[in-house]
Amino acid sequence: MIISKKSKSDDRLYRYLRLQNNLRCLVVQDKDVEKSSACLHVGVGSLYDPPQANGLAHFLEHMLFLGTKKYPSENYYSQHIQQNGGQKNAATSENYTYYYFDVKNEAFPKAVDIFSQFFKEPLFTETATEREMNAVDSEYKKNLSDDGRRIFQMEKSVIVRPGSVLNKFSTGGMETLKHEGIRDELLKFHEDYYSSNIMRLVLVGRDSLENLEKLAVENFSDVVNKEVVLKDLSNEIVYDENSLGKLYKVVPHKNLKKILIHWNLPYSEHLWNQKPSSIISHLIGHEGPNSLLSQLIKEGLATSLQSSNSSRMDCIDQFSVSVGLTDKGEENYQRVVELVYQYINQLKQSGIPKYVFDEKKRMYELSFEYKTKQSAISYAQTLAARMLKFIEDEEFNDLLWRPHALEVFDPEELQRRMNLLTPQNSFVIFQSKKNEKEDSVLLKEKWYGTPYSIEKIPDDTISYLAKVLPSLEVNLGLPPRNEFIPQQLNEIKILRDLENTKPAFPMKISENPQVWFKQDDTFDQPFLQVNMKLQTYDCAYPVTALSQMFIVLWKACLLEFNRELSYMGSLAGIGESNGLSMEYLSWTIFSYNDVVVTKYIAETLKSLQNYDVTKEIFEDIKNLKIRSYENSLKSEPYQRIDSKLYTLIMKNNLDIPELLKALKEELDFETFVNMKNQWLRNLRIEWFVTGHITQKDAMQIVHDSEAAIKHRKITQEEIQEQRLIKLPYNYLAEYEELNADTENPNSAALAIYQYELKTPLKQAINSVLFQLLKEPFFNQLRTQQQLGYIVQCAPMITRKVIHGKFLVQSSVKDPDYLILKMNEFLLNIRDNVIPTLTDEQIETSKKAIINSLQQKDLNLGQEAGRYWDEILTGDYEFSSREIKIEALRQVQKQDVIEYFNELFFNNPKRLNLKFYSHGHFDNKDELNANIQANQKFYQDNCKIFKQEKIENYRQFKLSHFQFPRL
Ligand SMILES: [Zn+2]
Repeated sequence: MIISKKSKSDDRLYRYLRLQNNLRCLVVQDKDVEKSSACLHVGVGSLYDPPQANGLAHFLEHMLFLGTKKYPSENYYSQHIQQNGGQKNAATSENYTYYYFDVKNEAFPKAVDIFSQFFKEPLFTETATEREMNAVDSEYKKNLSDDGRRIFQMEKSVIVRPGSVLNKFSTGGMETLKHEGIRDELLKFHEDYYSSNIMRLVLVGRDSLENLEKLAVENFSDVVNKEVVLKDLSNEIVYDENSLGKLYKVVPHKNLKKILIHWNLPYSEHLWNQKPSSIISHLIGHEGPNSLLSQLIKEGLATSLQSSNSSRMDCIDQFSVSVGLTDKGEENYQRVVELVYQYINQLKQSGIPKYVFDEKKRMYELSFEYKTKQSAISYAQTLAARMLKFIEDEEFNDLLWRPHALEVFDPEELQRRMNLLTPQNSFVIFQSKKNEKEDSVLLKEKWYGTPYSIEKIPDDTISYLAKVLPSLEVNLGLPPRNEFIPQQLNEIKILRDLENTKPAFPMKISENPQVWFKQDDTFDQPFLQVNMKLQTYDCAYPVTALSQMFIVLWKACLLEFNRELSYMGSLAGIGESNGLSMEYLSWTIFSYNDVVVTKYIAETLKSLQNYDVTKEIFEDIKNLKIRSYENSLKSEPYQRIDSKLYTLIMKNNLDIPELLKALKEELDFETFVNMKNQWLRNLRIEWFVTGHITQKDAMQIVHDSEAAIKHRKITQEEIQEQRLIKLPYNYLAEYEELNADTENPNSAALAIYQYELKTPLKQAINSVLFQLLKEPFFNQLRTQQQLGYIVQCAPMITRKVIHGKFLVQSSVKDPDYLILKMNEFLLNIRDNVIPTLTDEQIETSKKAIINSLQQKDLNLGQEAGRYWDEILTGDYEFSSREIKIEALRQVQKQDVIEYFNELFFNNPKRLNLKFYSHGHFDNKDELNANIQANQKFYQDNCKIFKQEKIENYRQFKLSHFQFPRL
C-alpha cells in the first residue's frame, strides 16, 4: 500500500507492507540520502523481565549484536557498519526494544542481511554472555549519580503497586544477571518473545521502493511468527491507594530543588485527533502572560516549570508537572503545590476556550504542510516507534499525519480529564537536600541507594487543594491570543536553471556591518533564519573569572526578562537559540517567514541593552547558577574530564572552583548592574540571514536591529582571542585528580595527542587514521576487555589544531590501568596491523568519510548551521566539505603509516588526564604496578624526553607557548 496522506513538501515515497509472517514494514525512498537506515522495534521490553533476572531484556539487547549463526564473529556487524561510514545503536524501554543503524547506500543490502540475522539466529555464546554482563553493569554504574535515573527507578521500586508489572529494575547488573542458567534465560526470552507479529520494521534509503521492498521481504519473511500475544495491560493497576495521595521526600545526589506532581489519567492514544492531554499540558506548562510559571517566579518560588504527558505501556497516561524551585520555593514547597492547584481549579471552572484549540490546530497544520526532512537514521526510528501503535493495515495511511492531526474540539473530554487532576489522584515527589535533615528515618531505594521518606498527605490538605482558587493578588489565567501565529506565509518562488545545480554560497552583501546573505535556493519552504554574532571586550571579557560569570548571569537574566515574549514566539514556530563562547555571543532565530517575525526580532533586540532585572530575580538566577556549577563537580568522571581538558589547554578557560568563587564573592547585584551598564557598548556584530527572504528585506532586519543597539563599532583585531596551548614535541604531561565525590565508583582516563595546525591534507590523514582505529579500539577495550561502558576514540580539531583523543571510564579498573591498555592497543596496532595495512583498507576508510561529507543538507536549518559555523569560527570556508573531500582523495597508505608513527611514537605530544575513584586510589600496589608498566612503555617505545606532572594548571599554561592567533 502506498501511503498517500503526506505533507505537500515531502518528496519521499512510502510503501507499507505486511509480510506473510505478519511483520509490518514500511519502506521509504528518499532521493537525497547518502546513507540508508533500518530500524526494527520489538514490542517487548523490561516489563517482560522474569523476576529472577531483572534487566534481561536490556542484556539481550546488548547480546544480540555479538554474533549470529550466519555471521559468528562478534564484531562482524560493527565492522561492516563502521567501515562503511555508519553508526548503530539500540535501546530498551518498558514495553519495546529497538535496534537501528545507518550505512552508506551501497553497503545497505549486506548490512540488512547481517542485521536481520539477530532476529532469526543469534548465538548468545557462553563467553560473550559472561563478558557482556560487565558492560551492562558498567552502564548501570555510570547512571548511579544521575538523579533523573534515580527518580525513575525510585518510582518503579517504591511508588508503583508492588505487584505491578512496572515494579522492576530495568537496567540490570551483575547482581541480577550473574547466575547459573542466564544464557538459557536469554535464549528463552528470544524464543518466547522475538516474534515477527510484534515487530515493526522501517527501511529508509535512496533505492527504489521495489528494491527496498525486496530487501524487506527477502531478509525478514523468515523471522519466525510465534503468534505472541502481548500482555493485556488495559486493566493493569499501576498506582493504588498506597501510591496516590502521598508525598515522597527524596534526597537527590546533586543539589537539586525540585517538585514533581504526577497524575494518573486514562490512556489517550486513541484520541489522537483531539490530543486532550497535550492541550491541557500546553496551558499548565505555559510560560507566557498570566501563566502559572510567571506567578511562581513573581512570588520568588521557582525558576522553571514543565508540564507533560506520557503514555506508558499502552495502558495509562502519566500527566506531570515539574517545578524547579528557588531557596524560598524549597522552604515553601506547599505554597508551590497550592499554586499549581489554584491554576488547575481555575481552569476547571473557566473551561478551555476554542481559540486555544484553534491556535494549536493552525500550528499543527503548518508543521505538517511544511515538514522538514531529517536524516534517514532518525526518521527510521521515529516512524518505527510510531508503527508499534498501528495494528490494522488500513490505519497505516494515517501514519505520517497522526502526530499533526488536531480535528476535534471536545470540551467535555477536556473537562473529564481536568477533573481527574486532583490531589487524591496524584503523588508528589519533592527532591531537596533538606530532606536529609528530617528527623524521620530515611529509607533507601534498593538499586540506586536513593534516600527517601513517605508521608501521607493529610485529608484536610487534600480537600483544601481540591477546591482552592486564586486569591485577588494572584494573577493566574488563560494566555492571551497569540499575535505571532503566522497568517500569511511569504512564498517567494526561486528560479532554478537546472534541477541539480549546486546551491550558491552565502554572499557578503554589506561590509560594515558585515552581513552575509543567502536566499534559499534548495528547500522551497517559507522559512527564515537570522544569525547574529556579537563580540566585545567590555567588562574585561573574557579575561577575568568575574567577566565570565557576569556574561552567564547577564544572558540568563535577559532570557528571563524576555521569557513571556519568547514563549509566545516559540508557540508560533519562532525558535530562538543562543550560544556563549569565550569570543562571542551568538543568537539565532529560526521561523516561518511571516511578517510578524520581523517585529519579534526588533522587540527582542531592543531589550539587549536595556532590560531590567530585580534584585530578587537576579539572586534567584545566581543561586541557580551556583548550584549548577557545584553540581557539575558531581557529574560522571567522563563528563568532567572533558571540561578539565579545556581548562588545561585553552588560554582563557578557568577552573570551576575559581569561577564559583568569583560568582559567589564578587558578583553581587550592584556589581552586576554596573557591569551591565558598560556591557555591549563596544561591539562588533556580524550577520547571516538566509531562507525565503529577499536581500532587501534581509538588510531591513539588519538596519532596524543595529539601530536598536547603540554601540561603538570595533574591529576583529581589538577582540581578545582564545588561544590554544602548544605542547612541545617528545613530551608527556599528566594531570590527576582524586574524585571529591566519594560515592562515585568510576574512574576515567583521557589521553590526548596533539599534532599541528591543520591543513586540508593533514586533517584528512588524521581522520583516515582514526577511522581505522575506532572500531578495533572499541572492540578491544570494551567488548573484549570489558573495561567499561564509555569507550571513545576520535579525531579532534580544536582551534584549528589537529588532535587524537582516547577516553575510557571504568568501575573495575584504575586510570593507570586504562592508560596501559590504551598504550598496549597502540603497540599492537604498530606491530600487527600497520605492517600488513593494505591500500584497500585505506581506500575503504577514505570512502566512508567521503560518503558522510557528501550528504546533502536535508533542511534549511542544517544548511544554515553549517555556513554559520564557518562564520563563527572565522574560517569563512563555505566550501569546506568539497575541500575536505578533495584532500581525502589524496591520502595514501604511506601518509597514514608515517603519521601514525609520528603522532604516537616518534614525536609524541601527549597529555594524560586521570580521574581516580576512591576505591581505585586506595589500591596502591596495583596502582604503582600500572604506573611502572606505563613508564616502561614510554621508555621502550616512545621517544619521550620530557615528562611533567601538572600541579598548578595556571602555571602549566604559562609555561608553554600558544598557537598563534589566526
Ligand atoms: Zn545498554
